[in-house]
Amino acid sequence: MRFAIFDSLCPNCGGRIDAERLEKGLACERCLPEPREGDLCELLEKKQLYANVCELLEKEQRFVEFFCGGVANPPWSLQRLWARRVFQGQSFAIVAPTGVGKTTFGAAIASFLGGKTYILVPTRALVKQVKQRCESLSKKSVVAYTGRKSEKERIQKGDFDILITTNMFLSRNFDALEDKKFDFIFVDDTDSLLKSGKNVDKVLRLLGFTQQQIDLAMKNQPQEKPEPKGILVVSSATLKPKTNRAILFKKLLGFDVSPVRVSLRNVLDTYLHVGNEEEALERLLEWIRRLGDGGFIYVSSKFGKEGVYRIVSWLKEHKIEAVSYEEFDPGEFRKKKFKAWESLCPTTFWSVGSIYQTLYDMPSSSIFHTCLFP
Ligand SMILES: [Zn+2]
Repeated sequence: MRFAIFDSLCPNCGGRIDAERLEKGLACERCLPEPREGDLCELLEKKQLYANVCELLEKEQRFVEFFCGGVANPPWSLQRLWARRVFQGQSFAIVAPTGVGKTTFGAAIASFLGGKTYILVPTRALVKQVKQRCESLSKKSVVAYTGRKSEKERIQKGDFDILITTNMFLSRNFDALEDKKFDFIFVDDTDSLLKSGKNVDKVLRLLGFTQQQIDLAMKNQPQEKPEPKGILVVSSATLKPKTNRAILFKKLLGFDVSPVRVSLRNVLDTYLHVGNEEEALERLLEWIRRLGDGGFIYVSSKFGKEGVYRIVSWLKEHKIEAVSYEEFDPGEFRKKKFKAWESLCPTTFWSVGSIYQTLYDMPSSSIFHTCLFP
């Protein structure tokens, strides 16, 4: 028996495909009549949508080899992930502690890509280090500004493939850069760059946006969507911009530069086959007792409101404090009944609701209890 068939999820033609094939990383029966083990890019006779994926994988592979050549060890999975995003034309922020290879990544990707690229670093010592790294990776023409007049002249003439300067250089010498356009800019230590709002405008200008586009975006005024520009990757250990102009990155390049909190949840996505409703209720009770206080139970719409009430009263009969979604009001509960809710750890509190109460898209079946735990 087939577990599930998805209507438009074949990675190659976008058509109907069964879960078993998807799980094995294969395409549908039309695209790949005989399911075989192996690399889908090699197995597919006619590549359609999947051609993009193959192209991306191939580019990533070339990047890995390129990286190994200059750095002497392969990129970490995070660095590969960042590279993949750049290859897809995305601008984004990397927030990661020091030592995970942000700067090395910046040097490698700027050396790998075609066109003009620019690496901004916080100190002059780093300018020199990154220059060495870039030169060990490729034969491209690198200009790193360390204070010499000749370097500045080359910058003014645009005589380079890769430019490396401090953030300070950008602030003070924008006139030397103003007429240049970069296909890729990597900012190492964004926080020091984003002390001044003017620097945000400068970086955006170097990516190809006009001052007018920037000003309109800042004023929230509608404008024609600017043409695709260069790619910007900013990195930081903390990401705490001191200027509100950092919002421009969101408006023009589609990514957020704001303090982020990273937290992890222990999510287990699983299911249990049961024979009938009675057995489902027994299992539910077992799981509630096992998992302890606090949680949500979603009930398939086919049981309707009555089903919700039935489960609530059944739980109450079994000494589980439960309310239906209609009775549930977090504000009220906090004030009156369940003070412990404030600590996000209600003593004995379970809420039961219909699947309609959420935006979750869950296939309903004879297993109708889905428990989500806070
Ligand atoms: Zn297909």
